[in-house]
Amino acid sequence: MRITFLGTAAANAFPEAFCKCRNCAQARKLGGLSLRKRSAALINTDLLIDLGPDVMAAAQIHGCPLDEVHYCLQTHAHADHLDLSHLLSRSPGFGVLGAPVLDFYASRETLLRTEQTFIRDLAGYSLLAPEAEKELNVRLHQINPLEYFTVGQYSVMAFPANHAPGMGAMLYSVEQNGRALFYGTDTATLFEETWQTFRRYTMQFDLVILDHTYGKDQRGTDHLSANQVVEHANRLRTDGVLKPHGSVFATHIAHEGNPPHPELAAHAKQLGYDVAHDGLILTL
Ligand SMILES: [Zn+2]
Ligand SMILES: [Zn+2]
Ligand SMILES: [Zn+2]
Repeated sequence: MRITFLGTAAANAFPEAFCKCRNCAQARKLGGLSLRKRSAALINTDLLIDLGPDVMAAAQIHGCPLDEVHYCLQTHAHADHLDLSHLLSRSPGFGVLGAPVLDFYASRETLLRTEQTFIRDLAGYSLLAPEAEKELNVRLHQINPLEYFTVGQYSVMAFPANHAPGMGAMLYSVEQNGRALFYGTDTATLFEETWQTFRRYTMQFDLVILDHTYGKDQRGTDHLSANQVVEHANRLRTDGVLKPHGSVFATHIAHEGNPPHPELAAHAKQLGYDVAHDGLILTL
């Protein structure tokens, strides 16, 4: 299983284009791995996590076309993770040829918001209407948390995120051919129910990707900080949820509390985890 990080920034990208803070100024100067787009990821060539606002740019910059994407696991409907205009732009009506049907998986709450936003702001017709499937080449699927479901060749489970109460935000585990990853953004401290589910199904991951919105001296209630990532990485190891050679990578990195990539990555390494960057490809 191969994962490509299409974006690794929090909601405001990094550098935030309008910001003069030290971290943004330094990232602009350094360029390269310090330039982060809004978070999304691609598994192999066919499974997208989040139809985010920057996936088009990512596909161009990192040379990873999304023309084989058949499935999308949507974490939630916050604007830094979901840009519904992509549903129109990838449709036959916009001249797109040969794209597979997009099977779009999300919680009930996310589907509800998706539907409302789509009708109100974009198209004036319902995503749930049968003609939408034909118009947009898309099929919507409601997923229930803490139950395995099959997505093509993948076995997937959704976990309620500790984020934006009432929005139905989900985290995902994805397994294929004996390899497994956990995609854990956006979320604050993982719920005990999530740890219990890992235990109940004896889940063991080769890769755990975690929210790292806040820096080491910040603490929030809707996202994880550097210190909390360390706490999670430690528990993943002691509970045996991370395989012995497995790794923990941080994503969804905000400019306020986190330095540019080289400094952040070096600091993280000392604390026992790694920091993803845009375009990073990991093979499990
Ligand atoms: Zn976010
Ligand atoms: Zn800034
Ligand atoms: Zn969010």
